[in-house]
Amino acid sequence: MEQKVPITVAFGDGIGPEIMPEVLKILKAANAAIEIETIEIGEKVYNQGVSSGIADSSWESLRRTKVFLKSPITTPQGGGFKSLNVTVRKTLGLYANVRPCVGYYPIIQTKHPKMDVVIVRENEEDLYAGIEHRQTDEAYQSLKLVTQPGTEKIVRYAFEYAKANNRKKVSCFSKDNIMKLTDGLFHKIFDEVGAEYPDIEKDHWIVDIGSARLADTPEIFDVIVTSNLYGDIISDIAAQITGSVGLGGSANIGESCAMFEAIHGSAPMIAGQGIANPSGLLLGAVQMLVHIGQPEVAETVHNAWLKTLEDGIHTPDIYREGVSQKRVSTQEFGDAVAARVGQRPTTLAAVEYDKERNVCSPVPRLQRRPAGKKEVVGIDVFVHDRSTDKQAFGDKIAALSTGKAKLRLVTNRGVLVWPDGFPETAVVDHWRCRFMATEGTISSADVVELLGRFAAAGVDFVKTEQLCKFDGVVSYSQAQGE
Ligand code: NAD
Repeated sequence: MEQKVPITVAFGDGIGPEIMPEVLKILKAANAAIEIETIEIGEKVYNQGVSSGIADSSWESLRRTKVFLKSPITTPQGGGFKSLNVTVRKTLGLYANVRPCVGYYPIIQTKHPKMDVVIVRENEEDLYAGIEHRQTDEAYQSLKLVTQPGTEKIVRYAFEYAKANNRKKVSCFSKDNIMKLTDGLFHKIFDEVGAEYPDIEKDHWIVDIGSARLADTPEIFDVIVTSNLYGDIISDIAAQITGSVGLGGSANIGESCAMFEAIHGSAPMIAGQGIANPSGLLLGAVQMLVHIGQPEVAETVHNAWLKTLEDGIHTPDIYREGVSQKRVSTQEFGDAVAARVGQRPTTLAAVEYDKERNVCSPVPRLQRRPAGKKEVVGIDVFVHDRSTDKQAFGDKIAALSTGKAKLRLVTNRGVLVWPDGFPETAVVDHWRCRFMATEGTISSADVVELLGRFAAAGVDFVKTEQLCKFDGVVSYSQAQGE
């Protein structure tokens, strides 16, 4: 008897408690060698006043088993509650979110019969760092953090995944025409790392037109690697256009732990009706079986599921008159898949998993790059001020210049307003005042002296940002209109 692998399971919220038992039933029927530990997460835990939605004892299980099969959970809206999904992904270092989106034509209605795209979404950074501040009466800020190691890890993962799964092309989606530093870094690392994979075709798309093409002509894509927010949005679109968002599974891979789930959420609108499609969670579980070294079982389950679809046994979200044979409940669908364990599809292509390599979690090589030479050549000071007279505001701030740091320009929402701004430019109460070093570089003490003048003049500064050159390269954005 094969050694059973301990896994942590959470039944989740909404449709979660309906779809998870079906998935576990199918895994049992396929003789998956797993030992299940159940934990409670989500709404019930939030309601006990635990703002993270997960108790300490549950972390203990996750850190021990390192494998998490998770039903969707409901994230309470607003005030004080953090998204548990984001918390688990980031706390366990699950940096790669892998979402295969496949069309099952002619069995399932889709406009894209040849669709077979895997979205590799960065999972820890970008706007999901969750660092937000209200800075003034009128201005709110969310920090978009993109790091070189984080980007290199996800881009390498995407190429290694493509190699392990015989995929031909990796496409990068970014918005580096606008965000030249953050998205620019993502694109640059994609080019650098991609050069190490000469056998894999690669291209880069600006995310807006890339998403439009993905929705319209998904067959031109193979593997897509992108940052957290874009990946979140495009993977829902990609899953939906395969026929139903209920069909997509997702793996969240880290260096030591991994979490497997459906792409979709807890769908409270259809909870309790017994009509949810358990397929997304089941395909997440298939990825889990590959990850824990049971590719044979993964193959058995995946093919039994394809055979069920092919036999026209469909939950209401994919049921279509004339093509489907039987409209079934969540439980009947689970029974049908379990009954087909050992069978393979004939119209749809049967899947085969590599028995030698872990194609779900290929390990990317990563070496931290050496630090560069940093020079601070100026400082941006952000000010909360309700002035509407741009010239007078700029003149007031210019008078605070020191011998070491002189006001170069003022922007409002990124647009130059001093000197020589346009009268038409609208302003809010959030100003960026750019001081440049008069002698090449400035020190922290120079910045303190400058801010001392702000304080003495009663100017409300809300934050500062260093203006740096790294290895001589200007590493801050210019003002619009500069
Ligand atoms: P959702 O994905 O839960 O549901 C949107 C709609 O898609 C549903 O109304 C339903 O019509 C359909 N749908 C989704 N899953 C289905 C399935 N398995 N079978 C049939 N139809 C299905 O999105 P939402 O309504 O925006 O989010 C509901 C809650 O889920 C929110 O609290 C959200 O924060 C949470 N959420 C959780 C996760 C997660 O746990 N990983 C992911 C996304 C959203």
